[in-house]
Amino acid sequence: MSDRLRLSRSDDNFYAWSTLDRASARRGDEGWLEAQLRGPLGRLVPVWRSRNLIDPGAPPEDPPEAVLLPAESHGALLERGDEPLFLGLHGGLAYFASDLSRLDQAEAEAICGVRAETEANGAEFLDLRFTGPMMNREHGNLLAYARGMLTWRRRHRFCGVCGSETRPKDGGHLRVCSDADCATSHFPRTDPAVIMLVTYGDKCLLGRQKVWPPGMHSTLAGFVEPGETLEMAVAREVFEESGVRVHDVRYHSSQPWPFPTSLMLGFHARALSDELDVNTEELEMADWFRRDWVIEQIGRRSEDFKLPRRDSIARQLCEDWLAGRAG
Ligand SMILES: [Zn+2]
Repeated sequence: MSDRLRLSRSDDNFYAWSTLDRASARRGDEGWLEAQLRGPLGRLVPVWRSRNLIDPGAPPEDPPEAVLLPAESHGALLERGDEPLFLGLHGGLAYFASDLSRLDQAEAEAICGVRAETEANGAEFLDLRFTGPMMNREHGNLLAYARGMLTWRRRHRFCGVCGSETRPKDGGHLRVCSDADCATSHFPRTDPAVIMLVTYGDKCLLGRQKVWPPGMHSTLAGFVEPGETLEMAVAREVFEESGVRVHDVRYHSSQPWPFPTSLMLGFHARALSDELDVNTEELEMADWFRRDWVIEQIGRRSEDFKLPRRDSIARQLCEDWLAGRAG
């Protein structure tokens, strides 16, 4: 992993560490982009129907790795995939996301060389949600970025104002309506979601949704609505889901979460009381859990009570509180 100045504790979250230079000042130069793509330093980041090309390895000793293909020797990706989308520069290489979703799986695998003697031999199109936590964080961020950008592009082929087709600009970071009278610019979007650990004294509020893995308990969360501050969204979501009123809402860190298009914004907040009125339409249950009891359950690897997966910001919010670093 390359060095850069540490910015904040967001750097500790999965999918959040990157030293990629997005080169935003240069991506409007089509000649420069073409030279980067077609030259010996162009690298393609293949994505097929939201799945990234990954060598699964044999974890934990041999972790999964991103498969990044030289553009020069993979001309078929340029011909048959959608127009490559510029991601940025790193280590002298230029990275482009290549969307192969129009092909069927066998075709997409074949042109990447999945079963041939190439860099991609043995690789698979895998869901980053399951492999990301085991990967090098810089590569995890690169794959998340590629996946997020291509999801946005698939959803903005047509102008939301007039319905005409949109066309790419700035290496794919902008889509402009093709109708000259409309000409609306559409920029990549990410949906802000707040996620918060609510505490009351030495207790924290955790809940469960029915669809979660057995035993998993996590923090409350929800999307920010227009007209709200982040803190208002935290207070509203906590009250809607648990009946608890909060104050002292404090920002913790953020995490790109392109599954499919979110930015998670983590908070700690204090409850005014421990009285609950759980919304059972949204949650299977929610309750207060004492800090020492939670630590004991984790220590003995309880099957009945688990914290969320370690790549989630929810886990970071819990870990920091358990360690006395918050609330
Ligand atoms: Zn339009």
